[in-house]
Amino acid sequence: MPEYKTPTSQKDIDHAFEQLKPYMNPTMAYYESSRCLFCYDAPCVQACPTNIDIPLFIRQINTDNIAGAAKTIYDSNYFGNICGKVCPTEVLCEGACVFNHQNVKPIEIGRLQSFATNTIIEKNKKLYKLAENNGKKIAVIGAGPAGISCACELRLLGYNVNIYEAKEHSSGLALYGCAPYKVTNEDVMQEMDYLQNQFGFNVKYNSRIDTEEKLKELENKYDAIFLGIGLGNTRSLNIAGGNLNNCIGATEYIEQIKLNPINVKIGKKIIVIGGGNTAMDAASESARLGANKVTLAYRRSKEEMGAYDFEYELAKAVGVKGMFNVSPVAILGNEEVEGVHFIKTKTENGKVVNITGSDFKLECNTVILATGQSKKTDLLSKINNLKFDKKGKILVDENTLQTSNPKYFAGGDAMNGGAEVVNAAAEGKKAARGIHSFLI
Ligand SMILES: Cc1cc2nc3c(=O)[nH]c(=O)nc-3n(C[C@H](O)[C@H](O)[C@H](O)COP(=O)(O)OP(=O)(O)OC[C@H]3O[C@@H](n4cnc5c(N)ncnc54)[C@H](O)[C@@H]3O)c2cc1C
Ligand code: SF4
Repeated sequence: MPEYKTPTSQKDIDHAFEQLKPYMNPTMAYYESSRCLFCYDAPCVQACPTNIDIPLFIRQINTDNIAGAAKTIYDSNYFGNICGKVCPTEVLCEGACVFNHQNVKPIEIGRLQSFATNTIIEKNKKLYKLAENNGKKIAVIGAGPAGISCACELRLLGYNVNIYEAKEHSSGLALYGCAPYKVTNEDVMQEMDYLQNQFGFNVKYNSRIDTEEKLKELENKYDAIFLGIGLGNTRSLNIAGGNLNNCIGATEYIEQIKLNPINVKIGKKIIVIGGGNTAMDAASESARLGANKVTLAYRRSKEEMGAYDFEYELAKAVGVKGMFNVSPVAILGNEEVEGVHFIKTKTENGKVVNITGSDFKLECNTVILATGQSKKTDLLSKINNLKFDKKGKILVDENTLQTSNPKYFAGGDAMNGGAEVVNAAAEGKKAARGIHSFLI
């Protein structure tokens, strides 16, 4: 098992966050692309939420047509390089590759995808010619994968697009959330710059849309509005001790790591509460930043965890220990976290039931809550006539992603309740097509 110390230099950070899917060189890409069978009705394509023509781009790489390969990828997914690195390919395209049935390693589709797109990004090669300006103006709220993808597609179709972004960088959780050993900040920013040069949308940074007045202004100024605002902060657990120092939400903690990994103060004994992919990331990142003991605590069984198996394996590989069927009763401590009071649980008819008298305490000096992200109801409740499903997701027409207020379209986490970058990218593009059919 690799040993990680508390990082004090960029070299330590590079070691802690060594890339899981480093770039291939041209020889590696040629060799890997030669293995593809170029299947008819390829299952890898069916498994991709953006339906990239995978055999086509692999063949283009194999015949040294790298620009063609990148165009094939971007035609379906504007987050081509980022998705090549952060997509859960193990359960999507690579998981569906026919080689899995023959005990042969599946084609490394993600790495080939990143090879092609990154080569073109580095050359800043122009791949698209935009349609003539049609005079119509669209506002996009949120510069995450959904918002940026919507903007690219709209620009291609000839619209003027202004994106209003609350933060100082674009790409949303691709930058502020995705694990640093999957994708570097530089890779993310380079793909954003490439897309902006290519498509010429305008991003207004540090421009949070948060009042009825601002919404009204957008409604008056623009022909349609796309909501790509994602989800909010970590949901609180509503248990005693939740406001102690060193009890922190996982998304907020990971954001600090992404922006300034050397200066993040982490405890040596960490308990991460949750069983989803974000819990796995928070635990892995803590171990890689030098924590001595990282425990994942989940209230159901290991088999019931929402996280992908490979994400749990990644966390275990850096020393994280899983503790299942335990539920936190209180976070202990005076000002600082000193431990967690747990009770053991069992699952009965799908429900979690506490086992009376099974309480125990576990010492720690940091608690990370990976208990899901809240919905952005503050902003959404200010939009007239917007409808939601029982889980609070924005209701949309499934073909156009138009909401119950015809001026608004929605996609990404705010609409799907929280999925992956590739889903947000697909929905942003689909909504752009929906806006186009609404306005022409
Ligand atoms: C910790 C973590 C790790 C993840 N790891 C992976 C991974 O490895 N692979 C993967 O595929 N997916 C991963 N995901 C999921 C993925 O990042 C999201 O599904 C995806 O980013 C959603 O895109 P989005 O555009 O809908 O929202 P977001 O990425 O959240 O972007 C929303 C944008 O809107 C802005 N915004 C919000 N409100 C306003 C407002 N009122 N005004 C203006 N701007 C606003 C935000 O600042 C943000 O830039 C991860 C998520 C988390 C939390
Ligand atoms: S399933 Fe595998 S072998 Fe077939 S086209 Fe896709 S990547 Fe190539």
